[in-house]
Amino acid sequence: MSEDANPFESLQVQIDEAAEYIDVGEDVIERLKNPERILETNLSVELDDGSVGVFRAYRSQFNGDRGPYKGGIRYHPGVTRDEVKALSGWMAYKCAVVDIPYGGGKGGIVIDPKEYSEDELERITRAFATELRPFIGEDRDIPAPDVNTGQREMNWIKDTYETLENTTEPGVITGKAIESGGSLGRVEATGRSTMLTAREAFDHFGKNLTNASVAVQGYGNAGSIAARLLEEEHGATIVAVSDSSGAVYNPSGLDPVAVKKFKSETGSVAGYDGAAEELTNEELLKLDVDLLVPAALENAIDGELAHEVQADIIVEAANGPLTPEADEVLADRDVYVLPDILANAGGVTVSYFEWVQNRQRFYWTEERVNEELERHIVDAFDGLVECYEEYDLPNFRTAAYVVAIRRVLNAYEEGGSWP
Ligand code: NAD
Repeated sequence: MSEDANPFESLQVQIDEAAEYIDVGEDVIERLKNPERILETNLSVELDDGSVGVFRAYRSQFNGDRGPYKGGIRYHPGVTRDEVKALSGWMAYKCAVVDIPYGGGKGGIVIDPKEYSEDELERITRAFATELRPFIGEDRDIPAPDVNTGQREMNWIKDTYETLENTTEPGVITGKAIESGGSLGRVEATGRSTMLTAREAFDHFGKNLTNASVAVQGYGNAGSIAARLLEEEHGATIVAVSDSSGAVYNPSGLDPVAVKKFKSETGSVAGYDGAAEELTNEELLKLDVDLLVPAALENAIDGELAHEVQADIIVEAANGPLTPEADEVLADRDVYVLPDILANAGGVTVSYFEWVQNRQRFYWTEERVNEELERHIVDAFDGLVECYEEYDLPNFRTAAYVVAIRRVLNAYEEGGSWP
């Protein structure tokens, strides 16, 4: 993994590349390359031993032209201001690609949650929610889960906000548990959009997903669900999966559900007894597979590693797993990359459905959620391919940004600027 690439610079390169194909002035593009505002705060929280822990936290609101800011909250020791800015930008363009009425946002706390008790994490989360309170709201900014956060943290944030505001407003946050106003299908949604994108891509390239070999880097929410759905719904063979402790490989196929159970019980995929071999994460990324799904963190594949990738198609479940140099190398080598802002957009799309249901106080069946999600992803895929072919673009990422930037620009131009 490249530690050097700055994800915010990567985002700006991606926007510049797409801007070459759009008739728009430099001044307006500059606006589309930077967040509108960032909250940076230090949370002081009493720990279980009576001492006070201080945690740096951020929230970036990228662009509000198409609707309220929207994006996850990440708990990770590697969170930085620039990472949060980049992730908020990817959210803005992701929402535009799948055509849902949101701008982008993202937040994070610099913390390794494994080092804190559940009580401490609750106090830290509620402290962050208290700082966020003036900036969020169902018409303003709607956070959601990201790396190392889930329903539990979302429920705490909702409860803190509602208590301080003396209201009930479940739509202030998405990714909640069902009883707290969550949507059926939300937990699976990101992995489902990765599966749908892979299905559409294989179909588009005339390839067969049945028995296709698949390697998945990062066996968390996004990666493990994508793996299971690819196997269950399309008969793909999951030959390798990894997490931060290492990778397991079996050319005849791993059972994605059994590996997930093993990881839940032991904390890692490493040591899974159905594996033929243990690999390093880097070895996994270089496997000769039909489909590679990076589903961990940013910068997993840099320009150097890209020369050694042997996969035919990459579908990005993680945000920003390829550096711009990797994109260039892979395009030259005819490896097709389906970008994150389409392939993991299922999470925010079903978050949108959750928000719609919260506002109407009327809840959908899981079947309806999955059908609507499929429609959004398939329409977005078709729009991206159309743009790629019409402008003879260098890769699908640029096509996705051209589609997305145009939509944000149209909203901006229709609204005009003030003052
Ligand atoms: P998660 O915490 O559930 O899983 C992340 C996994 O990656 C863990 O298994 C972790 O061990 C593994 N990992 C970390 N570093 C690694 C490394 N160097 N090599 C291999 N594995 C490593 O997180 P998640 O929610 O699945 O998110 C994963 C990615 O998907 C992130 O980029 C996130 O922004 C993106 N994403 C998630 C959602 C969602 O709804 N969960 C939505 C959109 C995008």
